[in-house]
Amino acid sequence: MDTITLNDGTTIPQLGFGVFKVDPAETERIVSEALEVGYRHIDTATIYGNEEGVGRAIAASGIPRDELYITTKLWNDRQSDAPTALKESLDRLGLDRVDLYLIHWPAPVHDNYVTAWKSLIELREAGLTTSIGVANFLVSHLQRLATETDVVPAVDQIELHPAHQQPETIAFARKQGTAIESWGPLGQGKYPLLENPVITAAAEAHGKSAAQAVIRWHLQNDVIVFPKTNHRTRMVENFDVFDFELTDAEFAAITALEAGGEGRVGNNPDDSV
Ligand code: NDP
Repeated sequence: MDTITLNDGTTIPQLGFGVFKVDPAETERIVSEALEVGYRHIDTATIYGNEEGVGRAIAASGIPRDELYITTKLWNDRQSDAPTALKESLDRLGLDRVDLYLIHWPAPVHDNYVTAWKSLIELREAGLTTSIGVANFLVSHLQRLATETDVVPAVDQIELHPAHQQPETIAFARKQGTAIESWGPLGQGKYPLLENPVITAAAEAHGKSAAQAVIRWHLQNDVIVFPKTNHRTRMVENFDVFDFELTDAEFAAITALEAGGEGRVGNNPDDSV
């Protein structure tokens, strides 16, 4: 598995498995299947309501803890209370530390995210999380953390797929040493990416599926990516992306699908509450 080295010197598997909208009642089975398929990086969040299922799958797997990479996230209404929120997440996950803890959204209307970030710095120092980062932070939010604290996030997890690429955020983050994670990498099935002829042509040229071509585009874009699926056949498909490379022309043609705000499938972070 390819890894990305973060600005704190740790490494993260570049391809993982996301569990947004995975039914809590199904999560243990689905994450267990993902671990059987070979995924070692799981991206969950308190708000998904399925940390317990993730934890049960980890416990049942017998996989050594240091071979797994587990991310969870601080929900918006706990930004003033991160230490308790992380301890509750660890209890649900059955872990004594996570690998990565993220502020889920800036929720700028509450003006609490700098306070939350200072708490995450302390939680990292206490060993309850190995790395710390943010999600859905735009340039203005990253700038405030840089001005008001002396720790730069290890990652910024943002909506990112060929139709919504957020180039300004990526450029700013990378310049300060923050790695990019893409959420909604397949357009969440809401944006018609997998039917797009540019993508299907690239996929066919390599005997691969459209989803595999899009995941490959993320990998070649040097971002960390964790597509979600409830289906084992798709878990296998989404993991089988290391035996081909998009050509420069294919990569450029997919990059040209950028649709700016029209391509966004999630919320605008500035409006997050
Ligand atoms: P994705 O872009 O991963 O899309 C998931 C959708 O694509 C599902 O409908 C799934 O259907 C379908 N799909 C998966 N694989 C295939 C395939 N091979 N062929 C066709 N369709 C496929 O969206 P997510 O929102 O789940 O993003 C990934 C992860 O990012 C999340 O699970 C979560 O961990 C994280 N995330 C973070 C957010 C944040 O605010 N920080 C916000 C949203 C997501 P099916 O399940 O039926 O197979």
